Amino acid sequence: MVFSKRMVFILFLFWGTSYAGLRPSKYRHLSISNPKIKVRISDNLEKVNISGTDLKRTLHVNSNHKKFSGRKRIRFNCQSFTKKNKDKITRPVLLASVSSATGLVSLGKVKYQGRLHVVTSPKDESCDVVQEVNLDSYISGLLSKEMNGAWPVEALKAQAVAARTYAIYKQATQQVSKSLGYQAYYDLESSEKHQVGGDFFATTLNTDVATKETSGYILVTDKGNLTETFFHAKCGGKTLMPSSVWENKVEGYKGVSCPFCNTHGKKNWTEKITTAKFVKFLKWAKRKKHISFRSKDLRNIRLMKDSLNANTLKIYLGSKPLVLKKPLVRRYFGRFTMASNNFKLVRTNRGFQVEGRGLGHGVGMCQLGALDLADRGWGFKKILAHYFPGHKLIKLY
Ligand SMILES: [Zn+2]
Repeated sequence: MVFSKRMVFILFLFWGTSYAGLRPSKYRHLSISNPKIKVRISDNLEKVNISGTDLKRTLHVNSNHKKFSGRKRIRFNCQSFTKKNKDKITRPVLLASVSSATGLVSLGKVKYQGRLHVVTSPKDESCDVVQEVNLDSYISGLLSKEMNGAWPVEALKAQAVAARTYAIYKQATQQVSKSLGYQAYYDLESSEKHQVGGDFFATTLNTDVATKETSGYILVTDKGNLTETFFHAKCGGKTLMPSSVWENKVEGYKGVSCPFCNTHGKKNWTEKITTAKFVKFLKWAKRKKHISFRSKDLRNIRLMKDSLNANTLKIYLGSKPLVLKKPLVRRYFGRFTMASNNFKLVRTNRGFQVEGRGLGHGVGMCQLGALDLADRGWGFKKILAHYFPGHKLIKLY
């Protein structure tokens, strides 16, 4: 394949986002119809197999367009391309795009709506695959993954609005590119880090209805600004502020009480942390400059009485009092050890016992709470107003 830096630059110019130029407070001036979103659905593949019926394939590096009639499988050997052009590749390069007259294209055995793009991965000798799809088709598939396609429509509608806002925020602010430090070829990834999208078969009657009936609706803050919307599986009694979990302030959030998720999912969880592991955690927190103490203070660790309602841990190291945000403990021990940020710590003979409730970070909408409220007959607007009391609904398209 012929390949030049100039070509790469041209490709970058043409890979714009549908909301390019959108600044959070400027949404009012937009008229968007049928918005699209680019989702990274797979990464670090050595070989990419895309198949479908009546495929159209573009090789961007030499502007080669080709149509195939009937069933066809196209194979891209990313390893050989990236190896050959190793010295020339300084940033991700869009290699190919594939679409089908049927609107469906398969990556391996998984069927997706929209177009698939093959992009070189920033990691050595591999490719990422990006799905470009109508935003609402993406939302409908996502509802089955982030919630459950059989859940009541009003709960799914609340999730559709939150997920749509999240996706539009990522796209409008180009947050992925900013965090990577170069122009990425996608708006967000399909993963628990962002939000989990679904394939073509993930959509159900309920997810389609929920998406259609909320089409264009997003949340903005009372001041009219577009900010990130968060949601999680189960809060366990109360939701948290973004600033207490991630330290960055996000406008419009308030912690709310949620007695609704109590009867859903796992009742509670417990974990044990040995004193040695807790000491390691304290040393890590010191290295990261969250706390300071002298090494000899670690000989005598005393924990003040803790409760589920407290967002911080109060500890004495010797005579030195320390206050630690609970999410910092979860960040260190990981989400598999600490299912949520809603826990209390109890001193035991051999260390500490963690007694927690809920699942996930605890910020924004509690999904099992939304399920319970929908079962009680609440509509999606009322559910959203409960979990996002500092936000309002607008129709963007
Ligand atoms: Zn809850």
